[in-house]
Amino acid sequence: MSQDRIIIYDTTLRDGEQCPGASMNQREKMEVAHQLARLGVDVIEAGFPVISRGDFEAVRAIAREVRGPMISGLARCVPKDIEAAARAIQPAGKRGRIHVFLGTSKIHRQYKFGKAQDEILRLAVQGVRLARKHCPNVQFSPEDGSRTEWDFLVRIVEAAISAGATTINIPDTVGYATPKEYGAMFAHVLANARGARNVVFSAHCHNDLGLAVANSLSGVQNGVRQVEGTINGIGERAGNAALEEVSMALRTRRDVYGPADTGVKVSEIMRTSRLVARMCGFVVQRNKAIVGDNAFAHSAGIHQDGILKKRETYEIMDPQEIGWGVTELPLTKHSGRHALALRLKHLGYRLAERNLEAIFARFKALGDKKKFVYDDDLATLVDAAASDVVEVWSLDYLSVTSGSGVVPTATVRLTRAGSGRASTTHKDAGTGDGPVEAALRTIDRITGRQGKLLDYQLRAVSAGKDAIGEVTIKADFGKGQVLTGKGASTDIIEASARAYLNAVNRSFARAK
Ligand code: MN
Repeated sequence: MSQDRIIIYDTTLRDGEQCPGASMNQREKMEVAHQLARLGVDVIEAGFPVISRGDFEAVRAIAREVRGPMISGLARCVPKDIEAAARAIQPAGKRGRIHVFLGTSKIHRQYKFGKAQDEILRLAVQGVRLARKHCPNVQFSPEDGSRTEWDFLVRIVEAAISAGATTINIPDTVGYATPKEYGAMFAHVLANARGARNVVFSAHCHNDLGLAVANSLSGVQNGVRQVEGTINGIGERAGNAALEEVSMALRTRRDVYGPADTGVKVSEIMRTSRLVARMCGFVVQRNKAIVGDNAFAHSAGIHQDGILKKRETYEIMDPQEIGWGVTELPLTKHSGRHALALRLKHLGYRLAERNLEAIFARFKALGDKKKFVYDDDLATLVDAAASDVVEVWSLDYLSVTSGSGVVPTATVRLTRAGSGRASTTHKDAGTGDGPVEAALRTIDRITGRQGKLLDYQLRAVSAGKDAIGEVTIKADFGKGQVLTGKGASTDIIEASARAYLNAVNRSFARAK
């Protein structure tokens, strides 16, 4: 890879997935991984294999199926972590990478490990060596590196390089660094650690002070050739550096950051952002740079006038280049199977024939309810139809009465899928303070599972008064089961019931 190339290391599926409530199942992770490959990231950190069987399986499946990017698995500097990571990435062959990390700052050494510098150094070397036995690509991260004494940082980086590390990532784990400090740290390590010129240095920043992207870019100006981050900046606490921002900053300000380019196909940015938001149930804030709904919305008349005369008067980037506004004509109920299949392909979905059938049926039903079916509507249909959540309970019938002076009442009929026997139908009615509560409480009565609603979000998927409403809920089913559910319909009460049932079904899947 050319010296001018900046490697983009995506950790949406690991650090991004670590934020509370963002948990994705394996199918959702796989969708995201395929889209990351289309986006052209260089490395996908697919997970932390030792954490759970689910994480291990997801990393292994991604290593097996996703072509293009290198697939990385995270591990602490302990044999069982490293061996699990090695097994998980093994199907990727030469494109596999093991990422080992170990806390190096004084606070980590004293309080987390109770170990002196030399002992930490020894553990790091052992970890890197073991990882190298399994894989030629080994990345080492001194965790909390930005708060580690520079002398020790140089020593441990040197030791990791001579033990065989090929990439050295120095993270700002707690989002404490400022751009100047973070850049100076890289300049110092690169100038003083033996062997530094033979490896790739990497930045990994958190956004606790809103500086994640600025810090990453300062790293680039000081010798960093790999930037780590997530799509939409999701991640622990305030999140990670947003990769769409990093890539567009590098591209828009080549005059400052140099000719270094990324392999990112910017026309895939919007699609990736939307997909990640849907898959992890995290809505992108409206005013978010690059991908927020308002990122290119001009409301001041004087701006609008300027844009119409020449776009560059008020716009530093071309929104169309990153995938804004590339909506084609919406489909209608008259559109056939072929037109639908073609559009879905264009949207980047790879669907099995049986899924296409199910989506076509839903598409027709939707076409009867609303005049135009937009790309975003289709995406919602696909997510619902291709979901691999086993539908233990499904919604059969829902009727709600509400209004001023009426006690909101819901009548619900659910079908319970029979395992090996015929499915059964269950009906009940209940009341609530509002129509949504009435419906959800009635569902609880039927399923016998009590979920405590923690979050409820309603979003209009596309434009127009007949838009589909998409509801994302988060519910606590006890015993640490906090689950997300999604549902969509042109009727928002129905969408709410579907979203809740989706979470209920996930809780049944977990219970097994
Ligand atoms: Mn992190």
